[in-house]
Amino acid sequence: MVALDKIIRLASQGQFDSSGPGIYDRPIDLRKVRILGEGTKHDTCASTASKRKVGEFDGRIGDVMRSGICHAFAPDGRCVSLFKTLYTNACQHNCGYCPNSTACSASKIVSYTPEELASITLQLYRANTVEGLFLSSGVAGDETRMMEQMLEAIHLLRNKYKFMGYIHLKILPGTSREHIKQAMEMADRVSLNIECPSKGHLQELSTTKDFEVDIIRRQKYIRDLVSGERLPAGQTTQYVVGAAGETDREIFARMLYEYNVMNMKRQYFSRFIAVDGTPLEAEQTQPRWRENRLYQVDWLHRVYRLHRKEMEHAFGESGNIGNRDPKWAIAVNTIESPVDPNTATEAELLRVPGIGPVSANRIVNLRNTEMIKSKAQLRALGVRVGHARTFLEINGWRDSTLREWQA
Ligand code: SF4
Repeated sequence: MVALDKIIRLASQGQFDSSGPGIYDRPIDLRKVRILGEGTKHDTCASTASKRKVGEFDGRIGDVMRSGICHAFAPDGRCVSLFKTLYTNACQHNCGYCPNSTACSASKIVSYTPEELASITLQLYRANTVEGLFLSSGVAGDETRMMEQMLEAIHLLRNKYKFMGYIHLKILPGTSREHIKQAMEMADRVSLNIECPSKGHLQELSTTKDFEVDIIRRQKYIRDLVSGERLPAGQTTQYVVGAAGETDREIFARMLYEYNVMNMKRQYFSRFIAVDGTPLEAEQTQPRWRENRLYQVDWLHRVYRLHRKEMEHAFGESGNIGNRDPKWAIAVNTIESPVDPNTATEAELLRVPGIGPVSANRIVNLRNTEMIKSKAQLRALGVRVGHARTFLEINGWRDSTLREWQA
């Protein structure tokens, strides 16, 4: 909450630049800024990728548990900080895990006005606190009215204040095609949270949202409306992991559909956290490592380009990855004999735990000029030798203890 506290502190010290033509001239309602900032902490409609290290799979940004400011990569590769907020914390839906749902006692319902939100974002930008906006919302009343107000805020930023910063806009479930089109013309990225891998799972969590109509159909609208100029950062989605008892294998199957059919740029995972006062408060909060293991699986599919059949080995009999390295689980089941870094293809090298795209490429380049004879050489190329050694044969040396190779 450091980020949100910083925003509140700056505002209360009058450090926002509220001068300039057309700037909203009323005092900033700090209570509202705090409530709607904190509302993004648990509302998975508003969280982004998680920032935590998972060995060679590190490199993701944005912290789901931090309210106020999150981060994203702009299309030009820069990491930008975003003012992360809800437009309102009122919602007509009843997602069982969400404190903003109708099922929860909503004692502190607040909303911005379009002018107010645009002005606060602009002032934060001028104060050098953020470089853009990450806007989500509950669905107060109906999605058409809510999207209109959110779009009006974005319109003011882009057209009245000439704001060219990064904007990530959450599309509300059930949003019309016309509003989606308008959103895509003004935002850099839009996303609509899928939350679960199937219709049946969503029914476990919400009786008011229709998986096919409110979510999948809207994702198709976005996919079909994407063009070269429109939506430079593409479409993304996010799962609430473990809220409906789904397995990792089921999530992975849906991920493939989302990448292959919906042209998703990225998919994010937010573990289910049991929040007091919600209908699912007695359910078990999912471990952080489950989120991390799903990011690893996503990375193996998206970056390492492992085949679906190979990926199957990542999931145990229960259909879950468990807290084990999925690349290791796949390697143990698919690498049939030790890999010689002097002769293996780049694709074969990539399948060895401890060798990533960069080190695989360096190995291939080095062996054009010299033989690889030692673990020290590999280490110097960035290979995590402790992980890789089990699967390697270097210049006749082998360290494998795998049963298959002993036979
Ligand atoms: S749609 Fe569901 S998750 Fe999003 S704010 Fe409403 S109740 Fe919460």
